[in-house]
Amino acid sequence: MKPIIIAPAYRNQMIDEARKHYPNECCGFGFGRENRVLEVVPICNVSSNPQDAYRMDSKEQVRAMFLAHNKGYEVVCIYHSHPDAQPIPSQTDIRRNLYPAVAHCIIGINLKTVTVALWRIDEDIERLPLLDSNDHDHRASLSDDPISNIIRFIVLLGVSLIVVAVSIYLLPPPPELPLP
Ligand SMILES: [Zn+2]
Repeated sequence: MKPIIIAPAYRNQMIDEARKHYPNECCGFGFGRENRVLEVVPICNVSSNPQDAYRMDSKEQVRAMFLAHNKGYEVVCIYHSHPDAQPIPSQTDIRRNLYPAVAHCIIGINLKTVTVALWRIDEDIERLPLLDSNDHDHRASLSDDPISNIIRFIVLLGVSLIVVAVSIYLLPPPPELPLP
């Protein structure tokens, strides 16, 4: 599964939802393109036991997916909160997982702290890195940095000069020319 990118604004939106519904669980979708969340859509939790579980309202769910599809978006992640619990998939999350191909964002929340974690829930469970931005883009922009390019040039020049100096030092002495 590709790394999922959730910009701070979208992550905060999910955290706000978790706060608003505390001590109940909130739930919803992170829609977007490829692996990047571009819209957060809360869905009503209709579970009969909302403090310990979530069940998305099916009508809202279909409507949200329809609207997202019209924008060219797909489901990038599903989020829900764990009030007074760690952001680790519960047995219910694993058993009732209808979307194994989609990342699950879990917000562990209590009165003091909030912890967000991202998971792939399939036959096995894998914790995924939670990225703010595209790290690959960041790395590419670093190598375009003119200062680091100058430093790289100086280092290369230094190494080349040392190689030339050592080669000259190791050369056999020139043959003595016969005197006329
Ligand atoms: Zn859960």
